[in-house]
Amino acid sequence: MALFVQKFGGTSVGTTERIEAVAEKVVGFRKAGHDVVVVVSAMSGETNRLIGLAEAIMEEPAPREMDVLVSTGEQVTMSLLSMALQKRGYAARSYTGSQVRIVTDNMHTKARIQHIDEQRIRTDLDAGRVVVVAGFQGVDDQGNITTLGRGGSDTTAVALAATLKANECQIYTDVDGVYTTDPRVVDSARRLSQITFEEMMEMASLGSKVLQIRAVEFAGKYNVPLRVLSSFEEGEGTLITFEDNNTMEQPVVSGIAFNRDEAKVTISGVPDTPGSALRILKPVSDANIGVDMIVQNVGEDNRTAFTFTVHRNDFKRALDVLQRVSDELGARGVSGDTKIAKVSIVGVGMRSHAGVATQMFEALSNEGINIQMISTSEIKISVVIDEKYLELAVRALHSTFELDKPGVEETL
Ligand code: ASP
Ligand code: MG
Repeated sequence: MALFVQKFGGTSVGTTERIEAVAEKVVGFRKAGHDVVVVVSAMSGETNRLIGLAEAIMEEPAPREMDVLVSTGEQVTMSLLSMALQKRGYAARSYTGSQVRIVTDNMHTKARIQHIDEQRIRTDLDAGRVVVVAGFQGVDDQGNITTLGRGGSDTTAVALAATLKANECQIYTDVDGVYTTDPRVVDSARRLSQITFEEMMEMASLGSKVLQIRAVEFAGKYNVPLRVLSSFEEGEGTLITFEDNNTMEQPVVSGIAFNRDEAKVTISGVPDTPGSALRILKPVSDANIGVDMIVQNVGEDNRTAFTFTVHRNDFKRALDVLQRVSDELGARGVSGDTKIAKVSIVGVGMRSHAGVATQMFEALSNEGINIQMISTSEIKISVVIDEKYLELAVRALHSTFELDKPGVEETL
């Protein structure tokens, strides 16, 4: 007998029929003798609808009132699921974040969990009840309702699993696991049966949107076994685990991530003196613009060029800031390009393999794809390329690193 924390996302509770299907799934676990704590999202589209209502009243509503408003979405689904369980003869109780006492700081709309009272949940579990908790929300020490940021129900589930020392935190969603890459781009993309926390963090930060990145971080920190699986089909899903727990031989590359969210800006002809990087990048960060990849080229006659990437939404502002800096420093000029894409290969296996970068560059070169920027970390290599070659690049890398072949455990 185990304790599972099971989180069901917006599409999994999108209609009353689907809520009944979730109840059936939970009943299956109860019948097998397990304890279950369920965390629910709002019905799909509901959080956006609520935000739309607020925006119809005013442009920038107070964050405190936004939290009161958007937290209602989860309150609807938690009660309906509880009813669906009771209808099937299973004792269940639903609680808002504030009723459980999921205590957070007071940063409305992006609060962080500080503490969870487990007493109420334990008492219910001991009495044989299923506990249904509203995801995405908590309460500050003054009793104000808070929310954890978009996609925050994942974090609620992981935090509850950590507090209750659950055997597994299961995230049920509309895909059946984490894939080697986006199956919409590569037909032969495969579901991974396991991935490490580190790899998952990289995949999530690179735009693979299966899990909220904060939830993955939290699970890694508190050692919570995390599994992503489909609420609509049977299957093992993907287990997110530690490298040490992974007995299978690691592939060199576990996945290919990409995004089209970035733009590239260049300031050239900058006098090459100590402090030039600071004088260029400080005004950018002062303007609250996040910078991702940075490349500095040393040119002739003591002049240098800086190229870096920013989010596309910040592109125009970044150019404005750079133009000012360029005038101040007597640089030659500023240019930019939004038609770029970033493609990354991710894998803890890279640590113990040489030549992975070369293999990547060869695959891209064979397709005639020009690399504009490169950055590397211990378990990731990213390149910036022309946006129009994105899909070609992802497909080429997927086959070069043999991600379409079944993994070791699937051939056993
Ligand atoms: N309902 C919230 C959202 O749409 C939280 C979640 O679904 O995880 O962002
Ligand atoms: Mg979600």
